[in-house]
Amino acid sequence: MSKRVLVTGGSRGIGKSIVELYREHGYVVEAPGRSELDLAAPASVETFLDRVRASGIGYDIVVNDAGVNLINEIDKVKDCDLEEMLSVNLLSPIRLLRGLVPHMKEKHFGRIVNIGSIWGVISKPGRSIYSATKHGLHGISTTLALELAPYGILVNTVAPGQTMTELTVRNNPGDAIKKMEEDIPVGRLAQPVEIAKAVLWLGSEENTYITGQQIVVDGGLTIK
Ligand code: NDP
Repeated sequence: MSKRVLVTGGSRGIGKSIVELYREHGYVVEAPGRSELDLAAPASVETFLDRVRASGIGYDIVVNDAGVNLINEIDKVKDCDLEEMLSVNLLSPIRLLRGLVPHMKEKHFGRIVNIGSIWGVISKPGRSIYSATKHGLHGISTTLALELAPYGILVNTVAPGQTMTELTVRNNPGDAIKKMEEDIPVGRLAQPVEIAKAVLWLGSEENTYITGQQIVVDGGLTIK
């Protein structure tokens, strides 16, 4: 039977490519939109989990992709932005995994891929909260890798570099993208599918031994 995959943030950008790639490879993919699963609202996450439990069918693979990156220097960070980033990027993935892992344990199989960021590896001004959430998310990956290894569940982080999505275009106006490209060893931004390929492999039966790792997909940017 086809494995069932949950992808958050599947409406656009990297998440959309992840959804498409899993489907192309024969997986059954659910990618709930914001109206079904609002990651900024804990009550929505709990309602979603109640529905999953009531259905009696869980997920074999979970990809926590949804993320927000609201840029500001520390003394200008707004409470609402702080709360949204913590909730969408960190707290909701934790709540989702807390609710979804029991099914994987029962099945003695699971793959979890958390989408981090190069800003969870290196730094840039204005990204303190975003970076904190991405560092935190990888902390979840490493701890769960240890907790869940005895159950056949492998947990990893994929940390994309600069990728051509709406988020990147919005956060890098003017000729900022051209400048970014000059700085990347392979000379261009990633296409979303290039991130999705790493996610698909790590989050599939093909991966049998990699767990607790952060795989950076950045065209060589962070090794400079
Ligand atoms: P986009 O901004 O293109 O898409 C963000 C996705 O997250 C959308 O599907 C959006 O849904 C969803 N989302 C945001 N807030 C909520 C919410 N409250 N509830 C449910 N869904 C929500 O992002 P990218 O594709 O660029 O990024 C995907 C992931 O990759 C993120 O975790 C990001 O931090 C990470 N990343 C991206 C990089 C890049 O260069 N693009 C670089 C490094 C990491 P909706 O359509 O409803 O808004």
